[in-house]
Amino acid sequence: MTLHHDILPDPHLTDRRVTAVLRRAIGLGLVGDEQPVAGFLDIDGIRTSVAALHTAFSSVPDTLHTFAVKACSLVPVLRLLCELGLGCEVASPGELRLALDAGCRPERIVLDSPAKTRAEIAEALALGVALNADNLDELSRIDALRPMDSASVIGLRVNPQVGSGSIGAMSTATATSKFGVALRDAGGRRRVVRAFTERPWLTRLHAHVGSQGCPLELIAEGVAEAYRLAEEINEAVGRQQVTSLDIGGGLPVNFADDATRPTYEDYTRALGAAQPDLLGGRYALVTEFGRSLLAKNGFIAARVEYAKEAGGRRIAVTHAGAQTATRTVLMPGAWPLRIEAFDAQGDPKQGADVPQDIAGPCCFAGDVVADGRSLPPLVEGDFVVLRDTGAYYFSTPWAYNSLPRPGVHGYTADGAGQVRFAPVRDAQTLDEIAAESGAGHADRLTSLIATAPR
Ligand SMILES: *Cc1c(COP(=O)(O)O)cnc(C)c1O
Repeated sequence: MTLHHDILPDPHLTDRRVTAVLRRAIGLGLVGDEQPVAGFLDIDGIRTSVAALHTAFSSVPDTLHTFAVKACSLVPVLRLLCELGLGCEVASPGELRLALDAGCRPERIVLDSPAKTRAEIAEALALGVALNADNLDELSRIDALRPMDSASVIGLRVNPQVGSGSIGAMSTATATSKFGVALRDAGGRRRVVRAFTERPWLTRLHAHVGSQGCPLELIAEGVAEAYRLAEEINEAVGRQQVTSLDIGGGLPVNFADDATRPTYEDYTRALGAAQPDLLGGRYALVTEFGRSLLAKNGFIAARVEYAKEAGGRRIAVTHAGAQTATRTVLMPGAWPLRIEAFDAQGDPKQGADVPQDIAGPCCFAGDVVADGRSLPPLVEGDFVVLRDTGAYYFSTPWAYNSLPRPGVHGYTADGAGQVRFAPVRDAQTLDEIAAESGAGHADRLTSLIATAPR
């Protein structure tokens, strides 16, 4: 696949790929009677997306691209990304563990989190993992915990307060965001400059401005603000103490069709427009992209269990609901997905479109991934495919109704229609569900009796 395909895809090519993969997956039983829902990751597509990222930043001499682990917290995916030259951005001890298990070297890991405990900070400093402090109190903790010979690069997250995108919950640079030191609050900028003058080892500024729903210009303006602050700090201390800028992730994804829009090239162009020297090599750069690397490289396939009608409306009851498409079900306006209809063999359904609700298996009325969507009439045994679900959908399961986390499979597909799979995550078993639901403590409450009368 060429880069050109990624940016201006031949729509039939992508559709043919999904069809070939689904047909093969059904044939192998990866999705079907026994596994009524499963996730699929396009490994060729991931390679292409990573290459596009490297290309867009190739003019910057010193760039570390990290992958935001929360977007797809699966060890084989992290291993692949690291092999393709990426590091990992982690935000919890669990994500740090996954990055290390994937073989990511500590110096290529960045720890961000607004709630790092003292133990987590000490662990990161001992490993040599880079660390972005969220606030000035965290810097004081680092003062106390940092070994003299720590190899960790240490930065400070700032909130440039440039404003909100269209999804409030995805906007991290609003006036009242919980992340980073608020630069435009009274005295904020001065306190940040002082924090750097007092700490010669504080060498990085971090700004992650937003995500889905944030215009490129808004993100670029936030990054430009971090650049200007770095210049101000370096002037105040009289040397280039700040040597790198961590510009975060947050490139939005187009969920409407196959086009990758905006591209990483669009992003670097917007950065250059907001601050011409940003990509000039004066500062080393760290990026932390998640959604834009993975979203379009994955889909969910689910079997239609029943097709029914209520109040004159057709409803397909499928196995893809809030347990795997959590955000789409809970915030349908913010996270709409393309849904496609396939027959029991995995061939695209024929027939005139009719409006249908695509419902999930969970026991609440709102468990609907698409409302009144026009699709060929679905019947029992058909499949629905939820496109562009490679980011976040496999890492934000919801344990409601004790539904198992679906299995995830990686695939490659060549031009001749030859499809190969590799396991990424096994479907959760009932034993595992029981174990995480306290089965090991089954009799502990019935034997917990107060020793004296109340
Ligand atoms: C979530 C997050 C990212 C990744 O955001 P995407 O929108 O998935 O690219 C990067 N950095 C930080 C600090 C984050 O919280």
